[in-house]
Amino acid sequence: MARAAIYPGSFDPLTNGHVAIIQRGLKLFDRLVVAVANNPQKTPLFTPDERRRFILEAVGHDPRVEVDQFDGLLVEYARVRGVHTVLRGLRAVSDFEYEFQLANMNRKLLPDLESVFVMTGEDYFYVTARLVREVATFGGDVTGLVPPHVAAELTRRFPR
Ligand code: ADP
Repeated sequence: MARAAIYPGSFDPLTNGHVAIIQRGLKLFDRLVVAVANNPQKTPLFTPDERRRFILEAVGHDPRVEVDQFDGLLVEYARVRGVHTVLRGLRAVSDFEYEFQLANMNRKLLPDLESVFVMTGEDYFYVTARLVREVATFGGDVTGLVPPHVAAELTRRFPR
């Protein structure tokens, strides 16, 4: 049986840390649905469509990866998609508490939902989309932290 997982996130924007999690996830699962969360409570830098396109350009050539977006609860999306495994990344201990709460809340809402965590290597453990946004909006260089097409778009928007 083919094993699939949903990798949900804000991906605002896609970083090399996210790409590493996708690559690691593909060693564990036959198919990944990378799902861009459209959270109306957050004011994103990039629209869900732009965020989806960044991901497509980075990993969309791989037939095992589907890129989608969802509104509302992840458990609802998982139910509709019929995929009951969620992939998340862990950077440092600081991620753990939030991820632990989220995984347990999701399991409470959908008991057969399982969360699987993979860790990034030392190359990207300090890379967060929030820091990338901050550095880029102040004209800092994000080369190497995000895929080249994302870096190009950030430089276009926030010239150095
Ligand atoms: P969220 O806003 O839900 O945290 P993100 O887009 O920031 O969404 O991240 C999605 C997932 O990817 C989260 O599980 C996060 O911990 C993980 N992640 C993000 N950056 C990294 C990284 N550099 N290394 C490992 N995991 C990461």
